[in-house]
Amino acid sequence: MTKIFFLGECMVELREQDESTMGLSFAGDVYNSAVYMKRCFPQLSVSMVTAIGRDRLSDKMLNRFKSESLETEFVFRHPSKVPGIYFIETDESGERRFTYWRNDSAARKLVDFLSAEVIEQLTVADTFFFSGIPLAIFEQGAHTKFWQSLERLKAAGVKVVFDPNYRAQLWTSKEEAIRQFDKALRLSDIALPGVEDLTVLYGIQSAQDAVGFCQQYELEEVVVKNGPHSVFTLVGNELLSHTITPVTKVVDTTSAGDAFNGVYLGARLSGRGIGESVQLAAKAAGTVIQHPGAIAPMAAFKQTMSEAGI
Ligand code: ADP
Repeated sequence: MTKIFFLGECMVELREQDESTMGLSFAGDVYNSAVYMKRCFPQLSVSMVTAIGRDRLSDKMLNRFKSESLETEFVFRHPSKVPGIYFIETDESGERRFTYWRNDSAARKLVDFLSAEVIEQLTVADTFFFSGIPLAIFEQGAHTKFWQSLERLKAAGVKVVFDPNYRAQLWTSKEEAIRQFDKALRLSDIALPGVEDLTVLYGIQSAQDAVGFCQQYELEEVVVKNGPHSVFTLVGNELLSHTITPVTKVVDTTSAGDAFNGVYLGARLSGRGIGESVQLAAKAAGTVIQHPGAIAPMAAFKQTMSEAGI
């Protein structure tokens, strides 16, 4: 069975429903990708690699991973930390505001759990996915050990996939993000950047320039997401531009890129070609943005994807 590991943080999502009621959910970029991959490609073994606490909300989060059929063998439980939490408010004009409680997040300590023994166990993966968000939240000093772990996985033949997912407020400086992303891209086999993520850091304005930027690294596959405009892929020497059908009724763009990543990789790992994988991924992303929150309802999502040929 093909095995994919998703390393990152999942958070508790509190969403304002009315003045005295909040909805509870769970979300986080790599978790969202894992969920959408597994929903579309149940034949793949999809694992979360993360750290949560030993509190009741962490129990609920773990149960949610299981109810989405994700493997949880590498979900570590920190004795005193808790999951990160964020609260979403929506004003009358539909504008969303986020408040985060993340300093005490167990996921910031994830590297502490990556012992040599655990890394050896992770070498059974076919693919290992991570993003710029765990890189941003890891504690000072954790990165060196993380890069050594990744080098070990790579040496064992695991394919490494990276999405920069740049979030300025999580980084101490732009220079630090650039330094860590450079390391990540050097160790990666596949990169899935969004154009916007590269604009602030590198001044990149177009999908073509994003592809050009990625060419300095030894990547075997580059997929550049550019909102509703297009997707560019570079595989070997073949540069392709893919057309996206824009969604007219966009409700909430949260996790569009995450859904795209999960379904694209799932399709590729299931033997689908580049063009078909991009179209399935774009369909998934286009579906997710028609629902509020990061995780679209299971039934509606599966229905649309089965009509798209999953
Ligand atoms: P991110 O969410 O990482 O910022 P993008 O905004 O590029 O990434 O969106 C990811 C994917 O979501 C795009 O490649 C596209 O397939 C899809 N998408 C985004 N916005 C729209 C839209 N308005 N209509 C249809 N598809 C969209």
